[in-house]
Amino acid sequence: MLTDSHFHFDGELSLNESSEYFGNFMKKHSIDKAAVLAYCAWLEENDMPHSNFKCLWLKKTMAPKIFAYMSLSHNFEKRLSAQDYLRQLEQGLEMGFDGIKFLEGKPDLRKRLGFSLADSVFDLVYEKLEKLNFPITMHVADPEYFWREPDAYCYYGDGSFLTKEQLYAEVDEILCRFPALNLTLAHFYFLSEDLDCAAKFLDKHPSVNFDITPGWEMFSDFSKNPLHAREFFKVYKNRILWGSDVTNTKINDSYNNEVYLLLTKALGDGDDFVVREKVFSAIGPDEETLHFIKYKNMQRILGDSPRPINCAATRKYISQFMLENPDLSPEYKKELDMIAKDFEQ
Ligand SMILES: [Zn+2]
Repeated sequence: MLTDSHFHFDGELSLNESSEYFGNFMKKHSIDKAAVLAYCAWLEENDMPHSNFKCLWLKKTMAPKIFAYMSLSHNFEKRLSAQDYLRQLEQGLEMGFDGIKFLEGKPDLRKRLGFSLADSVFDLVYEKLEKLNFPITMHVADPEYFWREPDAYCYYGDGSFLTKEQLYAEVDEILCRFPALNLTLAHFYFLSEDLDCAAKFLDKHPSVNFDITPGWEMFSDFSKNPLHAREFFKVYKNRILWGSDVTNTKINDSYNNEVYLLLTKALGDGDDFVVREKVFSAIGPDEETLHFIKYKNMQRILGDSPRPINCAATRKYISQFMLENPDLSPEYKKELDMIAKDFEQ
């Protein structure tokens, strides 16, 4: 059994092509269930304000295989209030989301947001999430070398971004006030270079999990000392989730497949292997550990089946969203019309 905790829906494929793509991909890689994580905002050029509705649509279309995580929307010109954010969460709960995704801890979006993840404006949201034990996946920081190497895929070393330590301090502050949050930190919280530090963090925060969505550097780090990684995975087997970042794309289909090759081989017990011209070692976890990582932990977090969808509420919030966003691109409008129509049945 395999549940992937970390899909996205931000590729170039149309709605119908996407459900077909995900269906085929899941079949090919024997993925039984997956959680699709929305993000409404990132950098201006890749904002997808209707992302929540798309993810809910996928959940409905591919039921009961898909769990959908909503995300909060922001107004980058004029700050929203605590009540505004709480209302967004309540509407998401009413529509039938299974969890919530925060991309806001990614350094570039955090810079755009302009205030702390621990800002009191999110208190009502965290309070409710904690009370309901509602699943949260949070992306905080990025690989260490993004701060060091100007040629990296993203570069954060020009002084205008928060440091990794500052971002971690914001999470510590949230967990200090809301210690029981059902929180998963994506990409191993970018701590793969220092497993002792990762262990200390998990010991300190018993409600927190890490997903192992690559982060190719994560698997390079594990490869440096696969025995240590194996031991870590065994000790923390009930805190680690399988994830991939797979999205709906033909253009990057080979990437999606390479990620699965990496995950499968790295969590296997075979010889060293090469993906994307890099050599990795297999961690070789025992069977019980692997079962927790691939399935049991997500089952504990999400239950066996997705929460029911409220079609009438979803249609209502789509209409409201369209009224509030008259400048939405024609392409996005068309998608929303299709989504609204599919929620009539
Ligand atoms: Zn992701």
